[in-house]
Order: sequence, then C-alpha cells, then structure tokens
Amino acid sequence: MIFYVRVKINKKMLKNNLTPLLRQYLEIKEQNKECLIFFRLGDFYELFFEDAVTASKHLNITLTKRGSIDGKDIPMCGVPHQHGDTYLAKLLKQRFKVAICEQVERQDEPIKRGQKEIIKRKVVRIATPGTMTQEKELGVGNNYLMSISKKETFFSLAWGDISTGDIYVKECFSEHEALLKIFDVNPSELLLKKNFFKKNSVFETNKNITLTFLGEEFFEEVSAKEALASIYNSANSSFLKDLSKLEIQSLGFLIKYVLHTQNKKVPPFKLPKRENYFNYLKIDNASKRNLEIIRSLNGEKEGSLLDCINFTKTSSGERLLSKDITQPLIDIKKIKKRQGLVDFFYKNYDYVKKDISELLSIVPDISRALSRISLGRGGPKDLYSIFLGLKNYKEIKKLLKSIDIQQISEENFFYFLEIDNGGYLRNLINLLQKSLKEKLPLFSREGNFIKLGFDEELDELRKYRDNSKKVILDIEASNRKNTGINNLKIKYNNFLGYFIDITPSSQSIMKKYESEYIHRQTLKNSIRYTSKELIEVSEKIVSANFKILNIENRIFESLVNKVKKGSDLIFKVSNIISRLDVSFSWASYSKKYNATKPFLTNGKDYDIEGGRHPSVEKSHNDDFISNNCKLNKGERNIFKLITGPNMSGKSTYLRQNALILIMAQSGGFCPAQKVKLGICDKLFCRVGAGDELAKGNSTFMVEMIETAAILNQATENSFVILDEIGRGTSTYDGISIAWATIEFIIKKIKCKALFATHYHELSALSEKYEELENFTFRIKEWQQELIFLHEIVRGSAESSYGIQVAKKAGIPEAVINEAKIIMKKIKSKGLNLNEQDKQIKIEYDKNTNDNFIESQKTIINKILEINLEKVTPIKAINILYEIKEMIKNKN
Ligand code: ATP
Repeated sequence: MIFYVRVKINKKMLKNNLTPLLRQYLEIKEQNKECLIFFRLGDFYELFFEDAVTASKHLNITLTKRGSIDGKDIPMCGVPHQHGDTYLAKLLKQRFKVAICEQVERQDEPIKRGQKEIIKRKVVRIATPGTMTQEKELGVGNNYLMSISKKETFFSLAWGDISTGDIYVKECFSEHEALLKIFDVNPSELLLKKNFFKKNSVFETNKNITLTFLGEEFFEEVSAKEALASIYNSANSSFLKDLSKLEIQSLGFLIKYVLHTQNKKVPPFKLPKRENYFNYLKIDNASKRNLEIIRSLNGEKEGSLLDCINFTKTSSGERLLSKDITQPLIDIKKIKKRQGLVDFFYKNYDYVKKDISELLSIVPDISRALSRISLGRGGPKDLYSIFLGLKNYKEIKKLLKSIDIQQISEENFFYFLEIDNGGYLRNLINLLQKSLKEKLPLFSREGNFIKLGFDEELDELRKYRDNSKKVILDIEASNRKNTGINNLKIKYNNFLGYFIDITPSSQSIMKKYESEYIHRQTLKNSIRYTSKELIEVSEKIVSANFKILNIENRIFESLVNKVKKGSDLIFKVSNIISRLDVSFSWASYSKKYNATKPFLTNGKDYDIEGGRHPSVEKSHNDDFISNNCKLNKGERNIFKLITGPNMSGKSTYLRQNALILIMAQSGGFCPAQKVKLGICDKLFCRVGAGDELAKGNSTFMVEMIETAAILNQATENSFVILDEIGRGTSTYDGISIAWATIEFIIKKIKCKALFATHYHELSALSEKYEELENFTFRIKEWQQELIFLHEIVRGSAESSYGIQVAKKAGIPEAVINEAKIIMKKIKSKGLNLNEQDKQIKIEYDKNTNDNFIESQKTIINKILEINLEKVTPIKAINILYEIKEMIKNKN
C-alpha cells in the first residue's frame, strides 16, 4: 500500500493571490505528488496544505497556518532543520516518501535578479523506505529496495541495500516463485509496473513492503543497460556480459530509481551476486517463521535463534550472522572453511578474547559510512568511521598473526586477510589520521574538523581568527578610553556582525563623537554603532571564517574522493571484519553454552548426542534435558514417530534438531555433545497451529498449505519436521491425513523425518515399515501428579495425559472430573457419542451431584455444628465469614 499525499491544486488556486513562495512550493509538489515535501525555509523544513495536516498528525507536531486562499487558512507545520533527520526517520518508518527541498543559493542572490525574486529551491533527495541511508533511519539489518522485470511468465528480481552496497539478482520461472522470493527477501520497497502480478492484493497482508508503481518509461531497456554500465566500470564488463536480458533490466531499473531519488548519485554497489537456488539449504518462509530463526512467533527478537547465538560486536557482523542462518550453505568445503575460522577463535579464545572484543566493539559500520559519503550525504564523522574501521582491521590482523599458528591445520590460514597489495589502505589510514580531528561535526558545513598542521593556509587563517578575539578586545578598550564610556562593549550577531553597544544613558556622550561612529540600531536598552576600524577588522574576520570553511570543505572533498576510489577495498575490509566478528561470535556462544563443532559428511548421517534447544535451554538455566537423535541407518533415512504426553517436550525436540542442522550448515557450532551430519538440501518445518485470516486462510487451511508444500518439494536429502499434522479437523479426518502423509514420506520421499503426534494409533505403522521408529517422552506419575522428565526413549505413549496437563494448568476441578468420566465412557464404549450421550449425561449429573456433596461436606458439617440458641450475633458473623472463606477455597 502506498500513502498518496496529494495537494488539491486547481488552476484557480494558483491564479489567486498566492505568494511566490507558495507557488514555488506547489510547483515542486506537482512534480513529486507521491511525496511529502520538506520545504527548506531558513532554519526550518516547512510543510503546507494537506502535507502539513498529514505530517502534523504523524509527527505529533503543532499545525499552524500561513496566509489563506479564498478566505480559507493554508495549513502549515515545520520541523527545525537541525533535527530534520529525526523527523524524516519517523516518517520513513511510517512508510511515507519525503522529497527534501533545499535552498540552493545564498540569501542575497535573488535580490540581484530582481525585487520580487525568491531563493531558488531544488529537491536534493527523495527519501523512501527502500533508499534509507542515515543511522537514524536504519535498523541493524539490511534494508532492501527491490525491482522486478518480467517477460511472459518469467521474472527477474534485483534487490539491493544502498546503505551497504549489497546487491543480488535472481531469476524466477513463475509468478508463484517470484512472490515467494519477494516475501522471503521482504524488501522495504518494491518497484513494479501495475500489471506485473495477477493480483497486487497479495501484498496487502504484508505491511512492511511499500509498493512503488512506476510508469512505462521507467522500465525501458536501453536506459536500464546504460544505468548499469554507468556504475560498473569496464573492469567488471565481463560480469555484465554474463547477465541475461531480464537480469539487466531488473538491475538497471533498480539503479535508475536510485539515481532518480538520490539526486543522480549512486552509492558504490558491490558486484551483483546471482542468487542461486541451489547454493543454499532451502528453508521456505513458513519453516523460517515456525523455527523462529530471526524473530519469535510473536514477532519479537527475543526468543529467536539469532537472539540466542548473537555475540557479534558490529552491526555488519550481526547482518552477516542473520544472513548465514537464514541461508545456510550446502557446499561442504565452504562450510568447513567457516568452521575452521570458528574453531580457530574457539581454540585461542582465552588468548584473543579481550583484545578482539575491544577492537571489534569500536569498529563502526564502514559500509554505511562509505555509502553516505558516496551519496554526498556523509560528513567528517563518516570519514572518521572509515579511518577507525581500517585502523582496527590492521590491529586485528596484527593480533591474529601473533598467535601460534600451530593451532591451525591450513598453512595459509590468514590468506583472506591480505587484501592491500598497493599500500592503498596504509596511505589512506595515514592521510585520515593526519587530517581529521578526533571530535568531529556531523556535517562538513559546520567546519572545524581538520587537524592543526595539515594545511598551512588553513593554520594561518585560523591563527588570524583566533587572534581576532584579542584584536576585538583591544578595539573595545581603545574605544572606551576614547569616549570615556566604561560600559561600552563590542558584541556580535549574525545580522549586524561586530558592533559597539552602549546603554541609552551614554548616548549624549556618544553624540560628541558623531564623526567617528556610525549609528546602526536603537533598541530599548541598547544603542548600537560601528566605526571604520571595526568595519575593516570585522570584514577581515568574517572573510577569514569564510575562507576557513571553504578550505576545510575543499579538503573534505579531496578526502572523500580518495576514499571513494578505494571503495572496493573498503568493502572487502568490511566483509573481513564481519566474517571475523561472526566467527568470534560463534566461538563466544560455544564457550558460554558448551556447543560443539559438528562433523560434516556427504553421506546420509544425522547423529546427535546430547542435543539441546538453543533458546529453550537459555531460559532453563541448568535444568534443560539433552536428548539424542539418530535419523539414519547407514545410507537409509529414518522416520521417527514421536508420541507422548502434552508438555513433555515433543515440539522442543523437533525444533532443536532442525536448528542444529541450520547452525551446522551455517558454519557454526551446535548445542550438543557430539554432532555428525550429512549435508541436507531442504529443511521443512510445520509446527503448531496458526491462521492467516487476513489472507483468507483458516488454521486448518494453513496447516494443509504448509504440509502440501512439504510433500510436493521435499527430496530424499531433505529434513522434514511435522508437528501434529491433522489436529485442526475432526479426529477421523485428522488421523487419516496424518496416516497417509507418513506413508507418502516413507514410501515416496524417503527423507529424514521427525513426526510428533497425539494419534497414538499411528505407532502401529512401525510393524509395516522398517524405517519408522517409535519414540516417546518419559513421564512419571507421582501422587496423581504428572512429572515430565523430557527424556526421549524408544516406544510409544499410552496416553497424552491431556487431562492431567489441563489440571496443572488450572482448569476448574468440576470440568476435570467431568472430563475423566467422559473419557472412561469413551474408552469403554467407543467414540459413538450420539448413542451414548444420554447415558453419559445422566451419569455425569448424578456424579457431579455426588462430587459436589462430597466436596462441600466440611462446610455442611460446619453449619450443622452451629448451636443457634447459643450463638451471639458477633460469633454468627464470624462463622459466616469462615464459611465464605471455605467456599472460596473450594472454588
Ligand atoms: P504439546 O503436545 O502440548 O504441544 P510438547 O510435548 O510439544 O507439548 P513442548 O512444547 O516441546 O511440549 O515443551 C513444553 C515445555 O517443556 C517447554 O516449554 C519447555 O519449558 C519444557 N521442555 C521441553 N523440552 C525440555 C527439555 N528437554 N528439558 C527441559 N525442559 C523442557
């Protein structure tokens, strides 16, 4: 859904006596109809008309007015320019688009053009949810802009994060596949033509994606090619030649939109990565959601896998870790490389821990700083971030190389750290160190960020400026002496510059020196003058300040150019730091939670000893019970059917084994004593009940859609987890579907599977299939109470103990008793309630009555004990209180 914010402009309104300023505003609005306009007016960004009404509501700021048309007030609101970023971020988070319109000439320039001229203004950026770059606008994760190209039923998707330079492309062979990928990437903004999808309403349920519909001209092929060629130099031309027509289009459209919104600038994008379906462990969106990889089922970070294993110190490290666990690898060599690095940090943990934590903690987000600088939106702080990142990379490299290399099997273990053959980084670090002060402003226009000693002319001018304070004090003293006015002061303001300030009582004295002083201003409590000498000095000081700012900005630009030239290397440094951070994070997790390095094979292995659920164990301190899981017999996969009481730990066990697979194939360590795993191609997880009412799908429908996806897509090398299939329908339907699903998986798919169910009857299938093994969770019944041991053992459960669990949960005793009786009847006489109902009801009523009398016996006795002839009124009231308490406790 897009927020269209329109100003209702009609010709009459424009002809009416609108001020030139409002006319300028409306012209800009006309060209940017979909945006709110941040219209720079002095120190404020102002909004007018409907924009003002909308912004005041969404930013919670006061709505005022500026003039009127036809007797109606023109609404206006504004935000201070200094805090523009903060307000902009708020609007972007609410998925508005905002055109930032700046003044592009000095205050005095319009006057030169004519009396009625006003300052020229221009849109310098169109800020949209998919093109955010500032820290305040962004979260830690990637923020993707996605574009689509289409030919017949083929699609190409391109998505990039302009704040980090990451960019990907993927071809899809059907609308269904394209939609799945879009929801998987979950971009903040999607660029498309109106007719790209059969129904755009599919996006309505995903409130995170802003749809931007662009006109035909935007999707023109030649300009897409040109846009692409303009940002990738000839060194990368072989890559471009390799792209298909559709890929060129989708990538080109994306670049064109960035150019359009970013004032014809593009950040240094990395080379696009072609996302190959076959490079990763495929986990569909439903499985990702069910496994709570990045967010828990209630949408929170807390409780997710990421939250539990994330010990990264940098934002780019956190981004990489989330990518790793949402896209685990399937190439065993690549996984082992990642493992090797984790192992290195694990083995040398005590030696490196302190230093590497400290160094990583102060590494800023250099990709984002580089992107801001390249878009002309960065400042001295961003340059300093790059300096700090590069410097710490060198330090980290030194630290790692100081470690006894015996620990590492590969001889050239640190080859990937060596990226700077020409000494570019060393020179850049030196240059930035020599030039930048440590305390820096956000924007270069604020000045005072270049170090003393870096530029001779700058130093000279600064000396003059600093000395001018003394010069002004000298002038003040000599003027006091000259006039005899002791409270005469020299002050400064933006309007008058330097001026002589006296109180009205001294005005008569000043009159004696009329030829020496020029009157400038009279206020209630002060009279202001200037003098020839003061004008001269003042001009010199102002001009020195102006020159200082100019020189600083010139130096800033040259530093920015040097940084931009090395953007490829800077990205590489950022990637290395992120990978080291992720590896160290795995080592930290493993040390804290006693995780182990998985042994990976190309076979069918799945053998976990002492496995644990990463986030459930986190909330259980030391009392989490570990469990084994073996899902292969040589080259044959095993189907494990798990029955067991409610609350015994079935879902936890299912998920923990899926998560262990993800952690292992991401290159990390796993929460277990021993892990031996063959690489899987797909992971499916259908756990628990959930509906998508907004999409028109009931709980059972969602369950079946997810199960269908599994049965249609899983292969022999997949790992399937099914929790309580067929629970959302009648018992007979449910058990039949579950039964058939099991047989299909065993006979046709033949993959590894964990299947939890309350249909204990299904255990009988083990007699038919050797691959099916029955397991259950141990419990103890003690004094009519259930004790969950959370330990998985061979066998099947006799019951789900649902009534005992319900009792534990606090279901009223009367309901529990009724349930017990009904269950007894059902067990002895079968499920045909129609015939039995009546009898059960009669017996139930009788029993309930007996139970009631039994449970209220003490109260009845208490009442019978009362001797009404002897009891005093006060005693009677006390007894009444006691009885009331007894009744309350019984309930
Ligand atoms: P139901 O059939 O009712 O859905 P379940 O058998 O799937 O239940 P889980 O939801 O997995 O049970 O677990 C119930 C609770 O038991 C969990 O919230 C967790 O607190 C605890 N638990 C599960 N497994 C373990 C374990 N291995 N060690 C300790 N506690 C556990």
